[in-house]
Amino acid sequence: MTTEESQAAGEGRPSAPGTGLAPATRAVALGRPPRDPGAPLTAPVTFTSTYYADGAVSYARTDNPTWTALEEVLGALEGGSALTFASGLAAVSAVVSLVPVGGVVVAPRHAYNGTTGILDERSAAGALRVRTVEAEDVDGIVSACSGADLLLLESPTNPMMELTDVPAVLRGLDASDRGGRPVVVCDNTFATPLLQQPLGWGADVVVHSATKYLAGHSDTLLGAAVVAPGRRDLHERLHTHRTLHGAVPGPMEAWLVLRGVRTLAVRLERAAASAATLVARLQEHPAVERVRYPGFGAMASVEVAGGAQEAERVCASTRLWVHSTSLGGVESQIERRRRHPLEVSTVPENLLRLSVGVEDVEDLWSDLDRALRALL
Ligand SMILES: *Cc1c(COP(=O)(O)O)cnc(C)c1O
Repeated sequence: MTTEESQAAGEGRPSAPGTGLAPATRAVALGRPPRDPGAPLTAPVTFTSTYYADGAVSYARTDNPTWTALEEVLGALEGGSALTFASGLAAVSAVVSLVPVGGVVVAPRHAYNGTTGILDERSAAGALRVRTVEAEDVDGIVSACSGADLLLLESPTNPMMELTDVPAVLRGLDASDRGGRPVVVCDNTFATPLLQQPLGWGADVVVHSATKYLAGHSDTLLGAAVVAPGRRDLHERLHTHRTLHGAVPGPMEAWLVLRGVRTLAVRLERAAASAATLVARLQEHPAVERVRYPGFGAMASVEVAGGAQEAERVCASTRLWVHSTSLGGVESQIERRRRHPLEVSTVPENLLRLSVGVEDVEDLWSDLDRALRALL
C-alpha cells in the first residue's frame, strides 16, 4: 500500500503526508511504509525474483516493492506516475519504442549523446526517421513536428546548455494541429523536478537519468519515465515494454536512489549556489573564452583558451575536481565531452563540462583557477 492509499484508509493511524506539500518535503516524506507503530521508517530492499502465488504481484520483472516506493516519490515530484528503469538510456529506449515502425522522431542536435546514439542506431536499422532541430528554435521545432510521432526534448541540453522554451513549443503544437500532436517527451535530468516540471506545462512523459542528481552520489545507475496523469495509455505501454524487454532496475539500485532523493533539495540548493558563484568568476577568467550556463541548476560548460589539448590539460591538473564522465554527484566533476567518439561533432573541442558538487566553493574555485591559469 502506498502512503497515500494508507492515508485514505485512515484506520486511526497518525496521518501520513499527502498532497499539497512542497517538492522538497515530498522528496523526504513520501515512499515510506505506513505509519504503523513499530514499523520501519524506510522502505526495505526487497530481494526476490518471485512471489507466493495468488497475490497482487507474481514475478519480479513486473513488480518490486522497492521500485514502487521510489516510483511514488518520483511520480509525486514530477506530477505524474513513474516507472523506474535499469538506466536513463533504458527509459529513453522505452519511449523510443512508442514510435511505430517507419515513424518520425524530432530531437535536438545536442541531446545527450546516448539519446542521439539510440536514434541513429534505430534509424540505421530502418526502424524510424529522425528530424534534427536546434533546441532554441521554437518555430523550427514546431514545424518539424508536422506528422511526427515523437518529440524528444532536453532542456538544458547536455553539454551545450541550450534552453528550449517548452511551454512555447507546446502552445505552437496545439495551435498548428497538423495531423495530430506527437508524443512530447522531456529529458529532465539536468534541471530535476525541483527546478522545472514539464508535465505541468503539458508534456506527456518526463525521462530521467536518476543516475545523476536524483541518486546524487555517483554510485548507481537507474532511469525513470514519469507519465502525465491523462496518459494512462502511455504508462501501460511503457510498463509493458519494461516487462517484456527486462529493462528493470535492481532493488538495491532503487533503494540507493530513494535514499539519494531524500537529500536532493539540499544538495541541489548548495550546488546551484556554488555554480552561480563559479560562473560569475569564470566569465572574468583570462583562460576562458566562453561560459555556457542556463542561469539555474549546477551544470555549466566552459570553452577554454586553446583547443582539445589545452582542455585536456585542465582536466589532468585539477586535484579536487574529479576528471570523469557523468554528473550530478556530490563530487564536482570535469570532462571534455569531445573525448567521446559518439559526442556530436558540433560540440566545441575545447568545451569542458562542469558538474558542480557540494564541496566548499572556495576550494572548488582555487583548484579550478589554478588549473586554468596554467594555460596562460
Ligand atoms: C546520463 C544521461 C542520460 C543517460 O542516463 P544513464 O543513466 O547513463 O543511462 C540521459 N540523458 C541525460 C541528459 C543524461 O545526462
